[in-house]
Amino acid sequence: MLDKVLIANRGEIALRILRACKELGIKTVAVHSQADRELMHVRLADEAVCIGPASSARSYLNIPALISAAEVTDADAIHPGYGFLSENANFAEQVERSGFTFIGPRADTIRLMGDKVSAIEAMMKAGVPTVPGSDGAVPEDPEEAMAVARRIGYPVIIKAASGGGGRGMRVVHSEAHLLSSISVTQNEANAAFGDGTVYMEKYLEQPRHVEVQVLADGQGNAVHLYDRDCSLQRRHQKVLEEAPAPGLDPDARAQVLKACTDACIEIGYRGAGTFEFLYENGEFFFIEMNTRVQVEHPVTEMVTGIDIVKEQLLIASGLPLSIRQEDIALNGHAFECRINAEDARTFMPSPGKVSLYHAPGGLGVRMDSHLYTGYSVPPHYDSLIGKLITWGKNRENALTRMRNALDELLVEGIKTNIDLQKDLVRDGYFQQGGVNIHYLEKKLESGT
Ligand code: ADP
Repeated sequence: MLDKVLIANRGEIALRILRACKELGIKTVAVHSQADRELMHVRLADEAVCIGPASSARSYLNIPALISAAEVTDADAIHPGYGFLSENANFAEQVERSGFTFIGPRADTIRLMGDKVSAIEAMMKAGVPTVPGSDGAVPEDPEEAMAVARRIGYPVIIKAASGGGGRGMRVVHSEAHLLSSISVTQNEANAAFGDGTVYMEKYLEQPRHVEVQVLADGQGNAVHLYDRDCSLQRRHQKVLEEAPAPGLDPDARAQVLKACTDACIEIGYRGAGTFEFLYENGEFFFIEMNTRVQVEHPVTEMVTGIDIVKEQLLIASGLPLSIRQEDIALNGHAFECRINAEDARTFMPSPGKVSLYHAPGGLGVRMDSHLYTGYSVPPHYDSLIGKLITWGKNRENALTRMRNALDELLVEGIKTNIDLQKDLVRDGYFQQGGVNIHYLEKKLESGT
């Protein structure tokens, strides 16, 4: 078993990782920037090291500073959380080369999945359904590129192989705009990601975002923890998630769940991971794999009873998976509302001092947050300040609990999106289940 883990992250996920370590009797090292001395997990960790100034580039993204912190504290593993360096293959490699365990997949797996063209190829080979597309980079020859688009059928979407965070994508509705869109996306991708490779996919018009959580030990064992629906998004950022995804076609679902675990075994996957799909007309289409723990992992924990972060720590300790697929049962339904420090109308971040914080409670209510009254949300980082999660024996019950829990939640002194969440959990279409990925933006535009 790991003895001491350095948590290379901040905020709610750092606290989440700390809790899992404590439960397993693993000692913890918190690292923080100069702006983050007051973080809750810094107070609770066995040791804390300041790794640099407020700017992420010089602290949470500073690889030498993180590795030095692991050295001086004699940690034996590093948990990257999500965001920051969590999907950086070079970081994983340097961590391992310096003699520490990287809590995540092997560097070459991160690299394989980080390049979407190679990820899609690997998935096709493993039998995971993908979006009809160029099957590799868009051909350089303009005639060939046009032929590919004709075969796929318009509209198509041009996507950067190294893209992320919803950037580096362009939808093309007709042949007249194809070549110019390809070259603009190539240039943008080059500037933003240092890699101008682009590929082409069929643009799905009304899909839902459905993803599959997996755990694998890299020793030939893999399980899935069913699915989540994360279709409520604004600018490709998830806002409200649920597990399981409601109303999926049972056969397609069973097939995709199995394909995901088979793929994990095929590629020798190690750790927790998520296969992201677009789901339309009863069919799944793989878009990317995230090789880390995700923000929305708690909804899956609530319906399976499995602590995903603890499993990550056990796998990183070299233990074979202790859970078998047949032991994993779905129980009830769960929702997660992301609570952000932001203006309700403009969505601009709203840092500042929290004059009052009161977390909701009761049966089936979970609040993952690093907030406390008097805490100052710094302006330098992501605006996520907490996640409110509710569980119920069915979808309706979990949603009722979420409505009540949101009414109990108090965050004063800064602006938050709590009112937006209150509105969403009362939305008629959302209550029915199964809205598509454009629903939230359309709702915000129409002001209803
Ligand atoms: P990123 O890594 O930037 O998040 P993804 O490949 O996951 O990129 O795509 C992000 C989002 O873009 C998806 O959730 C979806 O909203 C949209 N998208 C991507 N590919 C397609 C597609 N083929 N058809 C329709 N929408 C798409």
